[in-house]
Amino acid sequence: MTDPVKQYVYSFAKGDGHNKMLLGGKGANLCEMTQIGLNVPPGFTITTEACLAYLESGNTLPDGVMKEVREQMTTLEKLTGKGFGDAHNPLLVSVRSGSAISMPGMMDTILNLGMNSDTLQGEIEQTGDERFAYDAYRRFIQLFGKVALGIADEHFDEPFESIKKREGVKEDVGLSADNLKEISEVFLEVVHGQTGRPFPENPYEQLDLAIKAVLGSWSGKRAVDYRREFGITPDMANGTAVNICTMVFGNRGNDCATGVAFTRNPGTGENIFYGEYLVNAQGEDVVAGIRTPKPIAQMREEMPDIYRQLEELRSKLETHYTEIQDFEFTIEKGILYCLQTRNGKMNTQAMVRTSVELVAEGLINKEQALLRIAPESLEQMLFPRLDPRADVTPLATGLPASPGAACGHVVFDADRAVAQKSVNSRPLILLREETKPEDIHGFFVSEAILTSRGGKTSHAAVVARGMGKPCVAGADGIEVDVAARRAHIGDVVIKEGDIITIDGTSGNVYLGAVPTVEAEFSEELKTLLGWADERAGLKVMANADIPEDAERALRYGAMGIGLCRTERMFNAAERLPIVLEMIVSDTLEQRQAALDKLLPIQRQDFIELFTTMAPNPVTVRLLDPPIHEFLPSENQLLDDLIQLKHLKDTMRGSEVLSATLSLLSNINGKIAPIQQLADSSLVDEAIEKKEAILKKVRSLFEVNPMLGHRGVRLGITFPEIYAMQIRAVLEAACACQKAGVEVHPEIMIPQVCTSEELKSIKVHVEAIRKEVELSEGVAPIFRFGTMMEVVRACMRADELAQEADFFSFGTNDLTQATFSFSREDAENKFLPMYNEAGILQDNPFEVLDANGVGKLMKLAVGWGRGVKPDMKIGICGEHGGHPASIRFCHKIGLSYVSCSGPRVPIARLAAAHAALLESTQ
Ligand code: PEP
Ligand code: MG
Repeated sequence: MTDPVKQYVYSFAKGDGHNKMLLGGKGANLCEMTQIGLNVPPGFTITTEACLAYLESGNTLPDGVMKEVREQMTTLEKLTGKGFGDAHNPLLVSVRSGSAISMPGMMDTILNLGMNSDTLQGEIEQTGDERFAYDAYRRFIQLFGKVALGIADEHFDEPFESIKKREGVKEDVGLSADNLKEISEVFLEVVHGQTGRPFPENPYEQLDLAIKAVLGSWSGKRAVDYRREFGITPDMANGTAVNICTMVFGNRGNDCATGVAFTRNPGTGENIFYGEYLVNAQGEDVVAGIRTPKPIAQMREEMPDIYRQLEELRSKLETHYTEIQDFEFTIEKGILYCLQTRNGKMNTQAMVRTSVELVAEGLINKEQALLRIAPESLEQMLFPRLDPRADVTPLATGLPASPGAACGHVVFDADRAVAQKSVNSRPLILLREETKPEDIHGFFVSEAILTSRGGKTSHAAVVARGMGKPCVAGADGIEVDVAARRAHIGDVVIKEGDIITIDGTSGNVYLGAVPTVEAEFSEELKTLLGWADERAGLKVMANADIPEDAERALRYGAMGIGLCRTERMFNAAERLPIVLEMIVSDTLEQRQAALDKLLPIQRQDFIELFTTMAPNPVTVRLLDPPIHEFLPSENQLLDDLIQLKHLKDTMRGSEVLSATLSLLSNINGKIAPIQQLADSSLVDEAIEKKEAILKKVRSLFEVNPMLGHRGVRLGITFPEIYAMQIRAVLEAACACQKAGVEVHPEIMIPQVCTSEELKSIKVHVEAIRKEVELSEGVAPIFRFGTMMEVVRACMRADELAQEADFFSFGTNDLTQATFSFSREDAENKFLPMYNEAGILQDNPFEVLDANGVGKLMKLAVGWGRGVKPDMKIGICGEHGGHPASIRFCHKIGLSYVSCSGPRVPIARLAAAHAALLESTQ
C-alpha cells in the first residue's frame, strides 16, 4: 500500500483545477480560483485517491499523507503568519469534504479546527473580542463532537436552547460572551460525558481525527443513499477529497458577513444577481436556516464597496467558467474572500432560460447549450401549476424556493413519510421547521417540501430544486409541533394527513387541494428544442390515438404520429355495444352488419386525426389485442346472471324492476347499459344476451392471450375486421385529399412473424384500394408497413422488407418475447428483486436492453436495409421516449422514435444529444 512517489496532497496554488476526479469539485475549483487570482484563503486538498486507500485499508490513512499535510500546514503558517496551535496568534482551519459530483450536505465539514483552551486565549488576544472567540469555540466543539466523535446534535442543542431560554434571547447573536463561555464549558462536559475522555486539545490530533471523519463520510448512509438515488457511479465520482483551508470569519463584528450567491436566479434563470447574506455570522448560519438572511440587493446599501467587489467576483466567475456559479463568500473586516464555487444547480426552467441567454451573450455555443441540459430533466417543465382561475386565498406565505405546484397529505418527519409511502402511495408534503441532510429520504417520497424557517439557499430549497420538486421555504407563520404531529397557522390547525397545496413559484400555501393546470412551453424551450431538431438525426413522433392527444403531441413538437392504437378508439362507451355485437356474432353476415356500423365512426376518427396532424405522417396500427379483451370477465358475467335470475324470481312491479336494473346496468361499463325495463320479457332478453356473451367468453378463452389469437392472426382469421379498418383509413385519406389537406397515412400490421402474413393482408389492401379509388374518384396516398415485435420477424427482416414500406419496432412485445418475461407480471413480481440483486441492471421494459433486444434490432435494421437501403425504420415501444434507449436507436440508424406526447420534448433533446455525443466521440 505504500507508494513512495504518490502525491496525496496539493496546495491550492498547485493543484490541477480541471481534475475533479482527483481533487473533487470543490478542491479543483479552489485551485482554479486561486490560480486565476481570486481572493481564496490559502489551503490545500487531500486527494480522492487517499480516500479510497483509506476506506480500502479499513480506515488507515496511507503512509505519508499526514507528513504531506504537516508540510502544507507549515506553508499555511508561513503564508498567514500564524501558528497552528499557537497560543498567541493561532491558525485555524476548516476541513471540508468534496467529491467530483456535488452532493450538497451529504458529507461532513468541520470549521474552526485548531481551537483549544490555549488558542482560545490567542484568539481573544488577537481579536480583542472575547465574545467572538467563545462563539467560534462553542461552534467548533459541537461540530467536531458531532462529526469526528459521533455525538448526536441533541446533546448540544438541548443545553444550548435552555441557556437561550433562560437568557430570554431568540437569536444566537443575542448571547453574551459570558453566555457563550458557559455554553463552551457545558459542551466540553458533554463531550467528556459522551466519549469518556476529554475533548482533544492537540490541534494535530484534531486534524487527524477530522480528516478521517470526512474521508469516512463518503461511505456514510446519507452519502450512499444519495448516490444510489441520483445514480452517481464510481466512474462519475469515486471518494471524497478533503479541503483544508485557512479560516476566515464572517462573525468578527459588523464589518463582517457571510453569504451564498448564484450568479443568476436559479429559480427562473433570470440574469440578476441572486443570493443572501448575514452580517456578523458564519456560513453555516445561512445554509442551516438558523437566522433568516437578507437578500443580496440589500448589501448595495449596507456595504456598497463590498457589493461592488461581489459584482466583480460574480462576473469573473461566470466568464471564467462559462456557467452559472453557486458560490460562498465571507467578508472579514472588510475583505472579501471566495470560499467555494460550483456550477449552480438549477431547476430545468432556469437551465433552459440560461442556455438560450448564454448563447445570446456569446459565452457558449448552441451545442453546449443543448448538452448542458439532461433530457430527462425537461419533465420538470411539464409540472402542473395552480389553475389561475382557482379563487383561493393563501393560508400562509413563504419564500418561493423551487417552482411548481403540488398538493398532498401533510407529514411532519422523514421517517413517517417513508413509512406512510410504503403502505399507500398517496401524495405527501413534507412539512418541517427546517430540513437537514438526514431528512433526505423524506424528500424522495414527498411531492413537495414546506419549511417554516430558512431562506432560498437553505438545505430544503437547494435539495428540492435539485430534485425538481416544489418547495416553499421559511413560511414563518407556520408553527410546527413535530411531537404532536400538527402545525398551527394562526387559528388553523393542520394535522398529519390533512391535505394542503403549495405553490413553489409564488411561495403560497393553501389548505385543501387547489386545482392545477398543465405547464406551458416557454419561448426559450421552443428555441432550444428548435436547435435540438436541427442537430438531431432521429425524427420524433408521438404515440396518440385520439385528436386531443394528437393536438397535445403537436404542441410538444411531435413530427407525426408513429403509433395510433386503433383498438383504443373502440373503447368509447357508445362504441362498445357495436364492438360487442361484432364479437358475439355467429355468422359473417352478423359480423359484417356490426362492422358496417363501425366503418363511418372509424373513418371520421381518421379524418380528424389526419387533419390535425397534416401534413405529417400518421401510422395507424390495425387491431392488435385479442378480441376477448373487449368482453367482460367470466366471473362478472356469472354475477350478472345470478342477479338477473334473482330479479326475475322476485319481480314484483315495474318500478322496483327498473330501479334495480338501472343498478345492474352499471355493473359492467363495457356492456351496453340495460335501460329501464318494463316487463319480464326484457329481463329474459337480458339473460339471453348475457348467456350468449358468456358462451363467447368461454369459447375465446386462451391460456396465454399475449401469445394467442391477436394482431395479424386476427386479421387473417377475420379478414372483414381488418378490411373495415383499411377501408376507413383509405376513405379518410381520400376525403382529406379531396378537401385539399395533405395527408400521409400509414397502415401498420401488428404481431407479424412471416412475410406470408404481410402478403395475405396486402391482397386485401390492394383490393380495397381499387374499390376506394373507384368510388372516391381519387387514388388514396398511403404506405404499408409492419411492426417488428416478434423475434422471428427480426430474423426474417430481409423477407419482410420485400413486402413492407417501413418497419416499426414494438419493443414492448419484443422485450417480452426476447426475455420470455410477461409484460404484465414481471414488473411487480421478480424484476425488482433481479435489479436489487444486480442480476439485471435495469428494468428492460423501461431501458432498452441494448445487448439482447437491441442486438436483434440492429440485425433486423441491417437485413431490412440490405433489401431497401432507404427504408424508414422506427421504434414505437415505450423505449422510444427514454434518453439512453434513444441514443441506442440513433446508433443503429433508426429514422425515428415514437413516444407518448409528454415525452416528446425529452425525446427531441435526447435525439440531439445522441447526434452531438456521437460526433464528439
Ligand atoms: C409494442 O409492443 O412495443 C407496442 C408498441 O405495441 P403494444 O404496446 O400496443 O403491444
Ligand atoms: Mg405490441
